[in-house]
Amino acid sequence: MTNGNNSDQYTFQNPVDRYPSIAPPVQDQSEPGLDKDMTPHVDHGEDTYRGTGRLEGRKALVTGGDSGIGAAVAIAFAREGADVALSYLPEEEPDAQHIAEVIEKTGRKVVKLPGDLKDAEYCSQLVEDAVAGLGGLDILVNNAGKQVAVDNLEDLSDEQLDHTFKTNIYSFFRVTKAALKHLPAGSSIINTTSIQAYEPSPNLLDYASTKAAINNFTKGLGQQLAPKGIRVNAVAPGPFWTPLQPSDGQNKEDLPEFGQSVPLGRAGQPTELAPAYVFLASPESSYVIGETLNVNGGTPSP
Ligand code: NAD
Ligand code: MG
Repeated sequence: MTNGNNSDQYTFQNPVDRYPSIAPPVQDQSEPGLDKDMTPHVDHGEDTYRGTGRLEGRKALVTGGDSGIGAAVAIAFAREGADVALSYLPEEEPDAQHIAEVIEKTGRKVVKLPGDLKDAEYCSQLVEDAVAGLGGLDILVNNAGKQVAVDNLEDLSDEQLDHTFKTNIYSFFRVTKAALKHLPAGSSIINTTSIQAYEPSPNLLDYASTKAAINNFTKGLGQQLAPKGIRVNAVAPGPFWTPLQPSDGQNKEDLPEFGQSVPLGRAGQPTELAPAYVFLASPESSYVIGETLNVNGGTPSP
């Protein structure tokens, strides 16, 4: 998706209609869903993100980098001059391949590292492979996430509870722990949390709980690592149109109204999140630590 007028994130424009207010048709994909099968299409910045050298020479690992928010972050990082390693599930290979091609076109290196973040061994091997492939590591974006809506707690299976926590918070601990020995002073860790951390939807109890945990983890670890010169921050998206949503992240019948209730009146496109990650990754945010940057179309947040 492009926004139709060839603009990029520096073009002066009205945020209300930078992108159309979408009304996605009812659709269903099996988890984790593919970006390539989304209606309408998603803007990851392929034609709309302009880099200005803010991450020249940096080396980044992005989990969930094949699609949605992680894909937009990976493209932005590459356009800013970073080499990027992508973690994703093996069944997401087509999406990962598309993002890898976009990155290669910028002249930056891309390393594709499929695997399952529920698996503790993959979490540490992923970091070792990223370091080997990139020749080091100085940006870690913990972004992978699982969201499956369940209306009643009685119907939340123990398996789903376990998988949500393993994907959304255990992997953040495990990947970060494995990365620490490689991260030089000046490195940045950025965790994707959610508005759900403060405003839990009644049908996302397991998911929202992990997002509150991510906020807390970010503030605690931020203090622990500050003396070492490693900054930890979080980004809290509001409603963004990504494969997470039509692969049971929302009840199907709610999709046509997705994102319309925020003050801006529309869902966000993933590329609109990328500048927040670039800011937190870059040395320009040297005094910003333990912060959660809300990018949510105007919903008040603590
Ligand atoms: P997405 O489906 O594009 O990305 C999620 C990614 O997580 C998948 O692409 C997949 O690669 C990865 N993943 C899931 N389970 C995994 C596993 N077991 N092993 C390895 N990788 C796994 O959707 P997205 O919306 O871009 O999600 C990215 C992050 O943004 C998630 O943490 C999500 O909670 C968060 N978020 C999204 C929204 C939104 O509205 N889309 C809002 C707030 C927060
Ligand atoms: Mg994906």
